[in-house]
Amino acid sequence: MNQASVNLRIAEGTTPTNTWTDGAPLRIPSAVVLGDVRTYRRLTCAACGKRGMKATPQHTAIGGYRVLCSCRTCRHVEVC
Ligand SMILES: [Zn+2]
Repeated sequence: MNQASVNLRIAEGTTPTNTWTDGAPLRIPSAVVLGDVRTYRRLTCAACGKRGMKATPQHTAIGGYRVLCSCRTCRHVEVC
C-alpha cells in the first residue's frame, strides 16, 4: 500500500467526500503545487483585467485537486 492510499482512507473516514478544503492534497508534490500557484498568480482577472490573482490550492477527501483564483482587486473568483 502506498502513502497516497493510506492518506485517502484516513480522509474518507473523517470528512465529507466532496467538500473543497483549502490546502493541496498530500498526493500532489509540493513543488507541483507551488508551480501552479506561481503560474496562476500571474494571470489576468477575466472580470476587471487587472493582473495578480490570489491562488489557493484546494482538495477534497476523495483526492480532488484544484486551484481557486480570486482577484485581489474586484474579488472575482474562478477555478483554474
Ligand atoms: Zn478582477
